[in-house]
Amino acid sequence: MMHLSKTILCTVLWIPLAFLHAQDIEYDKQLGAEGARTVLTQYGIDDSKTSEYVKKVGDNLAGSLTEPIFEYQFNIADTPEPNAFALPGGYVYVTRGLLAMVNTEDELAGVMGHEIIHAYRRHSIKQMKKSILPSILKIPGNIIGAFSPNLGSIINAPSNLFIANYSRKHEKESDELGVGLSAAAGYDPYALAPILERLSAEVELLTGQEEKKGYFSDHPYTPDRVDNINQIAGSARKGTDNRIAQSDNEFLQQLDGMWFGDNPAYGTFNKSRFLHPTLKIGLQFPENWKTINSAQAVGGFSKDNKAVFVLSIPQQQMSPEAYSKLVIEKLQKEYKLEPVKAEPITINGLNGYTVHLYKEQKKQESIGINLTWLASDGNTFQLASAYTDDNQEVTKKIENSFSALSNKEVANIIGHQIKIIAPKEGESLEALCKRTQNTWDVPFTAMANGLSTSQPLSSKRKIKISVEKKFMVEDK
Ligand SMILES: [Zn+2]
Repeated sequence: MMHLSKTILCTVLWIPLAFLHAQDIEYDKQLGAEGARTVLTQYGIDDSKTSEYVKKVGDNLAGSLTEPIFEYQFNIADTPEPNAFALPGGYVYVTRGLLAMVNTEDELAGVMGHEIIHAYRRHSIKQMKKSILPSILKIPGNIIGAFSPNLGSIINAPSNLFIANYSRKHEKESDELGVGLSAAAGYDPYALAPILERLSAEVELLTGQEEKKGYFSDHPYTPDRVDNINQIAGSARKGTDNRIAQSDNEFLQQLDGMWFGDNPAYGTFNKSRFLHPTLKIGLQFPENWKTINSAQAVGGFSKDNKAVFVLSIPQQQMSPEAYSKLVIEKLQKEYKLEPVKAEPITINGLNGYTVHLYKEQKKQESIGINLTWLASDGNTFQLASAYTDDNQEVTKKIENSFSALSNKEVANIIGHQIKIIAPKEGESLEALCKRTQNTWDVPFTAMANGLSTSQPLSSKRKIKISVEKKFMVEDK
């Protein structure tokens, strides 16, 4: 096991251990295990060959902690959002979206080192329960969550759940000790800086599109932060090099075949139309809605946050009618309320049941909640919506777009995958993009690879691009 350098690192690394009690460790582990289950259901865990590689890099780093405290677990959260996060108890995640931006094992080690320190130093996760639907959340008794946990969790924005709101002090500490840790594990301690700058460049390139919560809103980039990293890196002591990928090309090869954007196994968006290849269903959201797709549910909300719509499969499988009875019973028993309306329904040939569950008259606007169940191909789907009066029609329109997909439609569902290719000697990036049918444009490809758009390429340095890939149901 490596000893970290005597400078800042040694002292700081030893501090927490003196105060740490066995029950604290147990508490962290328990909290982390609960969080890990939620990550699994909300994001899914990528189990491709890339995952094995990420675990090895993580083990390399954790093996260099002076006293590990936890059994660290490293996973790829199956989401396109570029992010990395740590749960208490040593659960460390990088997302597919972040991996797609990484160019070397050293950069990956920099990011993972930072997250390991968040868990190691027990920078507690302060969940931001920031509501994205303030008016709807004021409904009494958390009625939405009670009747549709998925609707509730979308309102509480699943991606917000694990994104910690660390203090600047904690971020600084994670940067500094993380840099020391990756150096101790034999990595280039300066490598955290370029990946942070690249993530920042990605956000800039995507500005103008939908605003996403990413690595940078929780880990704000400032030139100060990079300066600080470079300064710490200068005095970090480098341990024995145990890297897994022996070259940068070999590193890139680990990303080959990884999904970029949605993993179609959880359904995917074609513009604003949601398509699910294994459940064989489609749903049309309005074009200007913000949408969230997770392993558990797909949802969307209007720009003014006054309407939300969530499609999911409830845990128990019952008929639409049985569901509606259950919900009405619950409403009467627990809330002493009667549904506004409950009736059978047929949408695009699919039979179901709809319950207009609740309507609350407020001073200026009233809020309604609707639950509909539809049976298709052996599954019962729940379509839940909450809306203000003037949004009732638009949520009804989404509901009416629910349909079963034909085999032909299913066969045409595509996703995007990372592909690693060798340029021709002296080829321009533009020519390469054309030749390979890269779905990223030239500026994005340059950014993702840490290149300039005009520089001729070398055949020795491989490039990552994104290509369309038909989703085969057997792929699942
Ligand atoms: Zn952080």
